[in-house]
Amino acid sequence: MHELSVVASFVETVEGLVREHKAKSATAIWIKVGPLSGVVPELLESAFDMYRKGTVVENARLVVEKTPLKALCRACRAETERADYSPACPACGSTDLELTGGTDLILERVELETD
Ligand SMILES: [Zn+2]
Repeated sequence: MHELSVVASFVETVEGLVREHKAKSATAIWIKVGPLSGVVPELLESAFDMYRKGTVVENARLVVEKTPLKALCRACRAETERADYSPACPACGSTDLELTGGTDLILERVELETD
């Protein structure tokens, strides 16, 4: 399961932040996931639940934010956002599209618990 290694690397980052800020643990983390990130948000959530025990995110709330896929049409320059990949521009029907967003897999924000 690819999602488990993604979670492992995010938790490692959070552990670094906890140490750096001399915090006790993380109370919430926000992750941005695009439709072309190669990660399924639902699987990311279950991987997180499997992995969290005994780590700094054990009691943290996980917020997965799905980012839209963005494409720029090279024919009419229309920039569109959609939830799923579609091979044609909705404005002019051209298939000459450039993907400009949707591959995000980002640990966006972490909330830490300090004394
Ligand atoms: Zn177009």
